[in-house]
Amino acid sequence: MSSVSPQSTPIYGKVALIGLGLIASSLFWAMKRGNLAGTVSGYARSQETRDTAREIGLCDEVCDSAAEACEGADLVVLCVPVGAMAQVAKEISPVLKSGACVTDVGSVKGAVIEAVSPHIPENVHFIPAHPLAGTEHSGPRSGFAELFDNRWCLLVPSEGAAPEAIAKLRALWEGVGSNVDEMDAEHHDLVLAVTSHAPHLIAYTMVGVADDLGRVTDGEVIQYSAAGFRDFTRIAASDPTMWRDVFLNNKEATLEILGRFTEELFALQRAIRMGDGEQLFDYFTRTRAIRRGIIEAGQDTDAPDFGRGTKSTE
Ligand code: NAP
Repeated sequence: MSSVSPQSTPIYGKVALIGLGLIASSLFWAMKRGNLAGTVSGYARSQETRDTAREIGLCDEVCDSAAEACEGADLVVLCVPVGAMAQVAKEISPVLKSGACVTDVGSVKGAVIEAVSPHIPENVHFIPAHPLAGTEHSGPRSGFAELFDNRWCLLVPSEGAAPEAIAKLRALWEGVGSNVDEMDAEHHDLVLAVTSHAPHLIAYTMVGVADDLGRVTDGEVIQYSAAGFRDFTRIAASDPTMWRDVFLNNKEATLEILGRFTEELFALQRAIRMGDGEQLFDYFTRTRAIRRGIIEAGQDTDAPDFGRGTKSTE
């Protein structure tokens, strides 16, 4: 349960959510829980998603175009895959209200800033953000109000961004239960390459390897998968569009981290071949301390089944 109490008056009058998947729907339920928005409009690309949203009461109003949803909005949150940000920003640009704030929740910041900034009118604030919270599920039915509780949200304001607009957006993310920090885009993309993007690629690879390995049957992999492999399969079940876009748009940082990863992997591989138990033991002792640090920081649980249930994949 969150310790966040509802606001007596909403932070924003009208909020528009563009894209109605996991993050947008969680944001909607969390904003309602905290009374953070007067009214919320929404738009998603497919009729099917818009129909589902109407059916489950996701958003006060579901519109048939992104521009219609953004009319009169005080805050617009772009909740679409990273590769779709530019097109959506272009579409909504002409209707953005003077003084409004546009933000996004994309998992990559440098590429999104480059794609969206040219479409933001001068009288509109653009403050990119990234909530470090997610699950392997996607779509309008996958969201829940508690997703952001005690998770970090990173704001990536440009140098000239208005302090009052940043403060308001910070209040919104705090209101949905997040801890908020600020970071520059380049550093954000490097940090996320280490903590999220490279680990996802490794999980995808490991699950692919198990699938390809003829000598171990699929049945054995599923039946005898201990926690390690099961956690990999959970991560590797994440949305293919979202993750394709993450790697295409955070190329440099991800490749840098994967280069380092490969070097370390070779070193461990050599230690195994040479029977160097001391090197393996020392390495595993160091990594165990990192796990303890994550638990002490409240970012995961010490429970033996960690990684299952609705755990963050970001
Ligand atoms: P999702 O559940 O797959 O939802 C994506 C939504 O975007 C869908 O409603 C989809 O509409 C809509 N969409 C796609 N292309 C569009 C377009 N061109 N115009 C309008 N709507 C479009 O994805 P998500 O997990 O919420 O991710 C959304 C964003 O959050 C991504 O940028 C991702 O990087 C970021 N993020 C994700 C996580 C995570 O763990 N999932 C965590 C933090 C940040 P249809 O349903 O009609 O296709």
